[in-house]
Amino acid sequence: MLFTLRYLQAIFPSVSGLLEEELEIKQIMTDSRMKQEDALFIPIVGENFNGHDFIHDAIEQGAVAALWEKSVEIPENISSSFVFFIVDDTINALQQLAKFYKKEINPTIIGITGSNGKTTTKDLMAAVLKTTFNTCATVGNFNNHIGLPLTILQMKRDTEMLILEMGMNHFHEIDLLTKIAEPNFAVITNIGESHIEHLGSREGIAKAKLEIKNGLQADGLLILDGDEALLKSFANDKQVITCGFGMENDTVISNVQLTHDQTTFQIGNNEYYSIPLLGNHQAKNASYVITIAKKLGISIDNIKLGLQALEHSHMRFELLKGKNGVSIINDAYNASATSMKAAIMVMKQMDGFNQKIVVLGDILELGEYAKTLHRSVAEVIDQPIDVLFTYGNHAKIISDEVKRTKSGIRSNHFDTKEALLKGLENYIQKDTLILFKASRGMAFEQFIHEIV
Ligand code: ATP
Ligand code: MG
Repeated sequence: MLFTLRYLQAIFPSVSGLLEEELEIKQIMTDSRMKQEDALFIPIVGENFNGHDFIHDAIEQGAVAALWEKSVEIPENISSSFVFFIVDDTINALQQLAKFYKKEINPTIIGITGSNGKTTTKDLMAAVLKTTFNTCATVGNFNNHIGLPLTILQMKRDTEMLILEMGMNHFHEIDLLTKIAEPNFAVITNIGESHIEHLGSREGIAKAKLEIKNGLQADGLLILDGDEALLKSFANDKQVITCGFGMENDTVISNVQLTHDQTTFQIGNNEYYSIPLLGNHQAKNASYVITIAKKLGISIDNIKLGLQALEHSHMRFELLKGKNGVSIINDAYNASATSMKAAIMVMKQMDGFNQKIVVLGDILELGEYAKTLHRSVAEVIDQPIDVLFTYGNHAKIISDEVKRTKSGIRSNHFDTKEALLKGLENYIQKDTLILFKASRGMAFEQFIHEIV
């Protein structure tokens, strides 16, 4: 049970319908297409749909009460035992409800933001905290002003640790999320250049991520990327713990080594860890988790076990075997220039292949920075990479730049996905490693479906 109708009435006193105080709400429903018994329906008004229109479906699927915006007429022919709680704005009300519920359950809260690595850090954090505590975490990428409060409301009553991913495109969005979450630990994984078109500059991006401090508990801790020049200035703040490769960091990472499916690294003077993810940036994500886990009193053995237990989220640097024994890195989930360069650096370090091919597509949402940032990707494309294929108008900038500046790399741009696939055919063989990376909107998983 989440709560009773009496609990809801205390928060939302304006009621229509015959309120049975002890009636229990077991879950929250925002999507009326899914069966959910004993649910509170929260109709969301979006750009294309108005959830209020689906009240009959919601009741059919198991809703027993609903929040309802006062500007919308209550439909007739609904049983008087179905209760409407009248509110000004259902999204505000959802956030308010989440805050009440969170206060009551009172878990330790870890909020995670950053340009790249939020979901990975969240998944690593959940895997480690689960070894020792009842842990609830954001499912998938449910990290916005609706997903975050819904995650809070999914918490079971015995939850001890709540891990919340916080995403954003604009200023003030993290401010809102952190004030709902009021984290005990906040993490800024890195500062990249995603959403730079809304935020103006990397300084703007850093400022927007630092909004996470606005909701941090007075005795809370902010864990951040101490190698990032834009965050370094906070290193002396007594609420801040820095992690990174620089010796000046509070948590120092060193001795990173990559095998074909693991990264091993050292923390401080004498701790050694390994994770089933590849790359220096993943070791850094793990360092945030290790730092917090130690503060929470989790044993080093359990931290190690948890890191290995990570369930790898789909399409994030996933290593696959394809036709003719070709090896594929599926990193088609999303891309920024930083994460594209990181992925290429990692594949360059991977041993055991005779041929390495990079297939890149557009990084979207870069506005006026698109040219510069795409061109910057070319900097890391060199030996042992043999072939570069690109698809998409912006990605063409990468292959043009590689052609101009790098010898010894075959660089081809394709106008259609079909042509690219055809070009790729000759390379689909054992001992070849192919990386696929582009923004979500480029749907690069289509290539992968064709060759696995
Ligand atoms: P989204 O904004 O889509 O939710 P996210 O911040 O949750 O993204 P992930 O999904 O964890 O990020 O990872 C996305 C990409 O970023 C992956 O391709 C990964 O290789 C890369 N990445 C992960 N961590 C870092 C990091 N610390 N620095 C740079 N790149 C990273
Ligand atoms: Mg994410």
